[in-house]
Amino acid sequence: MHETRSHSAKISAQTGPDGFDVESIREQFPILHRTVHGKPLVYMDNAATTQKPQVVIDAIRRYYEHENANIHRGVHALSQHATEEYEKARKKIAHFINAADTREIIFTRGTTESINLVAACWGRKFLKPGDEILLSAMEHHSNIVPWQMIAEQTGAQIRVIPINDRGELRMDEFHRLLTEKTKMVAVVHLSNSLGTVNPVVEIINRAHEKGAVVLIDGAQWVAHATTDVQALGADFYAFSGHKLYGPTGIGVLYAKAKLLEAMPPYQGGGDMIASVTFERTTYAMPPHKFEAGTPHIEGGIGLGAAIDFVNSVGLERIAEHARELLKYGTEKLLEVPGLRLIGTARNRGSVLSFVLEDPPISSLDIGTMLDGRGIAVRTGHHCCQPVMDRFSISSTARASLAMYNTKEEIDFLAASLMEIVKSESTKAPRAIPAAGSSAEEQWPGTWAATPKAAAEKLAEEFDLLGDWESRHDYLVELGEKLLPLPTSARTEANRVRGCMSLVHLIARKRPGSEDVLEFLADSDAQIVRGLIALLQRVYSGQPARAVLDFDPQAMLKRLGLDEHLSMGRRNGLAGMIQRIRHEASKILAGDLHGK
Ligand code: PMP
Repeated sequence: MHETRSHSAKISAQTGPDGFDVESIREQFPILHRTVHGKPLVYMDNAATTQKPQVVIDAIRRYYEHENANIHRGVHALSQHATEEYEKARKKIAHFINAADTREIIFTRGTTESINLVAACWGRKFLKPGDEILLSAMEHHSNIVPWQMIAEQTGAQIRVIPINDRGELRMDEFHRLLTEKTKMVAVVHLSNSLGTVNPVVEIINRAHEKGAVVLIDGAQWVAHATTDVQALGADFYAFSGHKLYGPTGIGVLYAKAKLLEAMPPYQGGGDMIASVTFERTTYAMPPHKFEAGTPHIEGGIGLGAAIDFVNSVGLERIAEHARELLKYGTEKLLEVPGLRLIGTARNRGSVLSFVLEDPPISSLDIGTMLDGRGIAVRTGHHCCQPVMDRFSISSTARASLAMYNTKEEIDFLAASLMEIVKSESTKAPRAIPAAGSSAEEQWPGTWAATPKAAAEKLAEEFDLLGDWESRHDYLVELGEKLLPLPTSARTEANRVRGCMSLVHLIARKRPGSEDVLEFLADSDAQIVRGLIALLQRVYSGQPARAVLDFDPQAMLKRLGLDEHLSMGRRNGLAGMIQRIRHEASKILAGDLHGK
C-alpha cells in the first residue's frame, strides 16, 4: 500500500514575496511523497493532526538509538543526558510561547489532558455551588466535558456564550453573561470546526476585571501564528504537540506560577513528591508536582525539535502563507455549485468547513469520494456537536491547511468537488416508496427463513465479489436501491444515535402477525444506506425472538465489515443493530404495535 512518488512534478515551486518556498518545506516531510489509492497524497486534515518533518522523526530516533534512559532519577550519564534533553525541550516551549518561567510549563498528553488537569485541580479547589464557568458555543468537546464533570462535583454552573451565523462569538452576550459569579472563562483561540479566531485579549481583560481566571484552548492556534502568553495575560493556555508538527501523546499546559502553587497535584506517584512516608507526603514544586510517573520523554524531545523546525521556517511567514491559502481556498470553494461554507468569521484561520447542499451530498460521502482521489479531509462533527446543532447540520467536510499545503492542492480539491457535484446531479432520484412498502418488498427474492440463513445468502454473494473494493461498490449499489424514508419519519425520536451520518429508523410489528419485526431506515450517506440494506435483508421480516437470538458478529466478520469499515462506521453499524434489537424486544414486551 505504501508507495512513494515525488510530488515535485505536480507541485510547482511557490516562492512567496518573503522567500517562503513551499516546495522546499514539502521536501522535509517524508509522508507527503507517498501515494494513497495510487494518487499523490493531498493532506488537508491538519486540524486533526499535522505531519512530521524529518528533523522530528530523527530526534525521536536519535533519542532511542543514543540517549534512552529514565529521567530525573539516575546519576549515570545516559539518565543525565536524557534529563537535559527533556528539560531543554521545556525551555524551548517556554520561549516559544513567551512564558515568564519554565516552571510554568507542564508536560501533559495533549490539550485534552491539559484542560482536564485544570478542571480537576483548579476546579476542585476553587469552585463552589453558585459559581459559574463560562464557555463558548464553539468549544471542542475537550473544553466542555471536563467542565461538566467538575461542575457536577462542585455544584458550579456552566454558562454558554452563543455564536452568530458567521460563527463569531456574540460579544454582547459575553459581556452580559460575565458577572461576579463567573470564576472561570474557558474559550478556544482558533476554532477547529469553524476557523473562527476569537478576540481572546478582550475576553481575558474583561474576565480579569470581574476576578475570573481564563483558560485558552490553543490547540489550533499555536501552529498558526505567534503566541505570547504574557502579552495575552492568559492564566492557563493548553495545546498539543501533534498539531504543531510534533509527536502525538505530548502536550502542554502553561499556567501562571501563582496558580500552580495554589493548586493541588493532579495524579500521585513518582517524580511529583518531595518526600513520602506513610504518615505524610509532601509534594515537589511545579512543574514536577503535576507530572507524576515516567513521562513521555521522546515526545517532549520530539516536540522540542518540532518547535526548532517551526522557528526555523518562521511563524510570521507561516501565518502569511496561511492567510494567502485561506483567501484563495475560500474563493475557490465558493465556486463549487451548492457548496455552503460553515464558518465565515471575519477573523478566521486556515479551516474550510463546508457542506454540499444542491444536490445534498453527505459529508461522509464527500470524504470517501475525495479519499479515492488521494485527498485527506475530515468529515463529521469534529468533536463540536453543539456547533453542528447551532447550524442545524449533523456534520461538515473540513479541509484544514498547514504550512506545506499549496494553491495547486486547493485547485485539485475544488475541481474534485466540482466533479462530485456534477456526477451526483446526474444521478436519477431514488424511487419514492409506495405506501406501506415493507423491507421484504424492497428486496424481493432475498428473504430467508431465519436471520442466520439470510446472513449466509449475503455471505455467498460477497464471496463471489472477492476484494473489498468490489464489495464496497456493491454496498453503494444496494444503498442506491434503498427506498427513502418518508420525510414525516425523519424525526428526532427516530434518529439512531452513535452514527456519524444521519440515520433514521422506524419499526413496527407486521400488521396481522404475532411477532414479526419490520423496519425501514435511511441515511444521508451512500455507504450507510448500503449497510441498512444488509440489515434489512437479515432482520426485517423475522420474528422478534429470532432477531434477538441472532449474534451478528460472525456475519460482520465473514462479510469483511469488521476489518474494512472505519471505527466510526463500525460504531454506527453497532448502533443500528442495537436499535433493531431494542425494537424487537419491544415487540416481545408487547409495546410495539402494527402501525
Ligand atoms: N481543542 C481543539 C480546538 C482541538 O482542535 C482539539 C483537537 N482536535 C482539541 C482541543 C483536543 O486535542 P487533543 O486531542 O490533542 O487532546
